[in-house]
Amino acid sequence: MALLSIVLPSYNEEMNIANTVKTLSELMERERIEYELIFVSDGSTDGTFSEIKKASEANPRVKGVQFSRNFGKEAGIFAGLELTVGDAVIVMDCDLQHPPEVIPKMWQMWKEGAQIVEGKKSNRGKESIFYKMSAGLFYKIMSKLIKMDMNSSSDFKLLDRKVVNVLLTLPERNTFFRALTFWAGFDTRTVEYEVQERKYGASKWSLWSLMKYAIANATSFSTLPLQLVTLMGTISIIFSVILGIQTLVKYLMGNSVEGFTTVILLILIIGGFIMLSLGIIGHYIARVYEEVKGRPKYVINYVTDNIRGNVTGSWKK
Ligand code: UDP
Ligand code: MG
Repeated sequence: MALLSIVLPSYNEEMNIANTVKTLSELMERERIEYELIFVSDGSTDGTFSEIKKASEANPRVKGVQFSRNFGKEAGIFAGLELTVGDAVIVMDCDLQHPPEVIPKMWQMWKEGAQIVEGKKSNRGKESIFYKMSAGLFYKIMSKLIKMDMNSSSDFKLLDRKVVNVLLTLPERNTFFRALTFWAGFDTRTVEYEVQERKYGASKWSLWSLMKYAIANATSFSTLPLQLVTLMGTISIIFSVILGIQTLVKYLMGNSVEGFTTVILLILIIGGFIMLSLGIIGHYIARVYEEVKGRPKYVINYVTDNIRGNVTGSWKK
């Protein structure tokens, strides 16, 4: 019988774990799906991991690990993928904002041959206007840069074992799960879902972390910003040729401009262009630097008793 693994990255979600385990296990039993739940506590500082351990002792299908610190949701997803043994894997938030009722649909589509089932948001849940605006702008820029619809795509997905294995062979440290499945290809289908409201706890995203996420992902998936540097250079050259000719002609005619203002303006504008370009290039160098160091994506500190074998991320029991 086919096994479904569900990966749930969790950061400070002590109030959600028990409820999520109950909801999912009841659903799986009702639908007669063989399952395992893999919780990745992303360096939670509250009782999240002890909740996971408690659930795991009561139900051996629940497994979990605790990172040594907060490594971010991407790292959580990849650690979870690494631990799965199922024939298909679903990644979802552990706050049940991704509605569990969609799981049987995804499972059915997988049985019918889909290798990736993308969860597609039909709404964005109840969010503040400010959040909507910032997230909206973020997704618009992202969609342009990586040529996929970011606004409705999410981390709620089903992946076939083959796809999981492909993702696990990717050597990069800075992953962007949402877009990597598009990169991977395979037989992809979509299923719509409505984002639910969070019952317990609060969202972990601040405007600042969202911005950092946006920049990191835009640059990890596109080199377009680098071409912006070339564009700025081209504009400056055209401009300087025109201005240069005009200045020379005026000089030869004996009435050269009194150009102090021109000089200041030019220095400021070109200085700005150069610094911006250096910043963009510097950002890419920083990314290369991070990748070259080759540090693991995450470090596992504790595991539940039903997890055996070694996992990457330098875990020693
Ligand atoms: N999460 C995580 N590490 C983090 C931040 C969040 O593993 O550093 C998890 C979190 O526990 C949740 C999911 O990622 O299961 C989505 O986070 P959240 O609900 O805060 O985001 P939102 O739903 O508001 O986009
Ligand atoms: Mg959430």
